[in-house]
Amino acid sequence: MIGLLKESYEKLYSLLPQRAKVMASELVFKLSGKPYVYHDKILHPPNGLGRGVVSFSIDFELAWAWQYARNQSKDCEKIALHEREQVPRLLAKFDEYGIGATWATVGHLFLEKCERGWDGLAHSDMRRLQHFENEYWKFSSGDWFQHDPCSSVDRDPAWYAPDLIEQILASKAGHEIGCHSFSHSAFGVPCSSDVAASEIDACLEAMKPFGLRPTTWVFPGNIEGNFDTLATRGFKGVRAFPHSWAEVSLPLKRNDDMWGIHASTPIDLDGGGWNLEERLARLKKYVDRASATNLSTHIWFHPSLPRRQIDSLLFPLLRYCAELREKGAIDILTLDGLVDATEDALIREGKV
Ligand SMILES: [Zn+2]
Ligand SMILES: [Zn+2]
Repeated sequence: MIGLLKESYEKLYSLLPQRAKVMASELVFKLSGKPYVYHDKILHPPNGLGRGVVSFSIDFELAWAWQYARNQSKDCEKIALHEREQVPRLLAKFDEYGIGATWATVGHLFLEKCERGWDGLAHSDMRRLQHFENEYWKFSSGDWFQHDPCSSVDRDPAWYAPDLIEQILASKAGHEIGCHSFSHSAFGVPCSSDVAASEIDACLEAMKPFGLRPTTWVFPGNIEGNFDTLATRGFKGVRAFPHSWAEVSLPLKRNDDMWGIHASTPIDLDGGGWNLEERLARLKKYVDRASATNLSTHIWFHPSLPRRQIDSLLFPLLRYCAELREKGAIDILTLDGLVDATEDALIREGKV
C-alpha cells in the first residue's frame, strides 16, 4: 500500500511545474514531519557512505539571474548589490566552522571587464537563446545580452565579480567552484545544443585564468537539458536527479556517465508558510536523517537571500552541522567530494 502511494506520488510529482513541486514537497514534509529518503540498494552503495553527509551548494550569479525573472527584472542590480554585501559575511561564517561549499558560479562573473563587438552587441561571438517564457522567466524582446553593461567590475559591480571569486578561492574552508552557465542561460527549451555549447565553452574559458576546471554543474533556474553537451565537456556531476522528490539520498550514475546529484531543499522560507524557527527545525531534520541513514542531504541557496534568513537559518544550521561533525555523526562535503565518496563506497562494496 505504501509502495503504491509512493509510486503515485512520484508520478504526480514529475508532472508538476517547478513552483508546484516546491509546494508539494513542503506539504509532504508538513504531513509526515520528515524528509523523503530514496535509497536504491542496487544502484547505490547498499550501506550508504559509512557516515551521513551534508553538502551545501550556492547559486552565485548577481544580476544575471534576475534580469529576466518575472516581477524582479527591474530590481536585478539592486538584488546583485545586496548579494555582493552578503558574500564576505558568508565566507567568514563558512571559515569559522571550517565548512566548504560548492559555489555554482555564472561565468561572466569571472570577467574583469568586457566590450561591445563590431555589431554593437555584447559577446557577439556567442550563440543566442530565442525568446521564451516559463513560470519564472520572461525573455520576450531584444537580444539575450542586452543588459550586459559592457564595462568593468569597477563601474558595474552587479555584472562582474572577479574580486569576490578571489575571496572564495582564498577562503581557508576549501570551497569548490562549480559552473552555472556563462550568462545564466536556460538549458532546457528553447536552448539548442549550439547555444549550450557556446555557454559552457565561454564559462570554461572565463575560469581558465583562475586555474579552474569545474567538474560540477548546476542548471540555471533548475531548467534541465543538453546533458550530452555537458557530458562531452568533462562534467562529472550535475544537480539533477531522476527522482526529483528524493530529499535524502546519494548521487546516481546516469547513462551519459555523469552523476545526477539530488537537491534536498532550498534553505529559504518560500512556499510553505513556515516561520524561521519551524524552518530551522526542519532543516536540522534533513541533517539528522542523513546521519541516521548514512546517506546525504544537499541544501542549496542564493546568497541574495534576505539577511534575516541568512542569520537565522543558514548560520545556525552551519553551526549545527559543525557540532555534529565534531561528534563524528556526519561529514560535510562539497558536491565533487560527495560524488567521490559515493564512487569510493561503491568500489568498497564491490559494486563497480
Ligand atoms: Zn559582458
Ligand atoms: Zn541561478
